[in-house]
Amino acid sequence: MASLNIDPDFNTPGHPIFQAADGVCFRFPWEPLVTNSSFFRDLTSIPLPPCDDPDTQEVIPLLSATSIALKLVFQVLSPNKWPRQKVKPFPYEHLEEVFIIADAYDLNAVLECLYKLSNDPFVVFTMAMALRDVAKIELAAHAVMRAAQIHPEIDFLLWIKSPVARAKLHRLREYHKTHITVKLFKHKAKILALSKYHLFNKSCRREPPCSPSTKWDNFCSLAFKEITRAISFIEAGHGPQVIIDAVVAGIGCPTCAGRMSQLMSDAVGSARPGTDGILKLHHFEPWF
Ligand SMILES: [Zn+2]
Repeated sequence: MASLNIDPDFNTPGHPIFQAADGVCFRFPWEPLVTNSSFFRDLTSIPLPPCDDPDTQEVIPLLSATSIALKLVFQVLSPNKWPRQKVKPFPYEHLEEVFIIADAYDLNAVLECLYKLSNDPFVVFTMAMALRDVAKIELAAHAVMRAAQIHPEIDFLLWIKSPVARAKLHRLREYHKTHITVKLFKHKAKILALSKYHLFNKSCRREPPCSPSTKWDNFCSLAFKEITRAISFIEAGHGPQVIIDAVVAGIGCPTCAGRMSQLMSDAVGSARPGTDGILKLHHFEPWF
């Protein structure tokens, strides 16, 4: 009989042998499996088939499990041997395989452990979603909203597991990316114009003098007019780029326009609503 390919991290003699679909075997004790899963409780109540070779232990095939995901599951189920820092990081592209194991072998407990163990907001968000834990979902949502992009594997999983939650998450992210709070913008832009940018048109020394610097006594007067225009664009629901482009397009000098664009993007950047506010605002939209 061909020798078994046993994972060196799970090779304690005396433990039953579980074989993943790709052939890798793991020796793992019954106890955590039986405690957490009705599938394994049922399995232990059925006598195992007799073995032809007395030197070989029976192998229990787990055909829905890939070895990489099964190894993670076994690690998570033995926290004494595998403290959290040893379990991470787990590649996103294998998360779906963990879900398949949890579904096939009644191991939702693994998802619960995983999101308690993980510091990764994407993993926490996805696991909490699968377990329908709204408090945890919203906790992880802050970081997921701020992240530059949602990893495609995570996005796909959400799409399969919870399309409603995925749609809500994308709405929140879009809102976070584009929404500007008028009051904050006005306040911030005026302070910036008065403090950081007030010397701008004095330093624009074009020959002949540029039209903004001849028309306006100082940069603040020009900036205040543009801030008012910008607010009308914000109120019309436009995003940051449209607002900045529109404001800058009206200024006849590239140097002054560049500076105004800087001022506007600084002000826009500090006038974004916090993730707390966004979650509160969308509180009544369901996650599932
Ligand atoms: Zn100029």
